[in-house]
Amino acid sequence: MNDESITAESLIRELREMSGERCPHCDGVVSAVDALKSRALGARRRPRCLEGLAQYIGSEVEDLQRQLADYFSQRECYQGALNWAEQQDAE
Ligand SMILES: [Zn+2]
Repeated sequence: MNDESITAESLIRELREMSGERCPHCDGVVSAVDALKSRALGARRRPRCLEGLAQYIGSEVEDLQRQLADYFSQRECYQGALNWAEQQDAE
């Protein structure tokens, strides 16, 4: 998780490219928020839902959720992208 050169804009561009991807875990369409979580975990090429991500990295969903919330809260770029992703998912 070494992302020093990224910005909210670059993350949003990546999320746009990831939109409509299907989760290899449950075959559902991956939401923008889950795509951002996948990106944070280095699974940009194969975005997954939160459950799929937890299984992928061998973690409990609750632990992963907490870890990601911490990660996002410490990074302005991720905060900006998260706001954007939440708006996308609400539409
Ligand atoms: Zn899934």
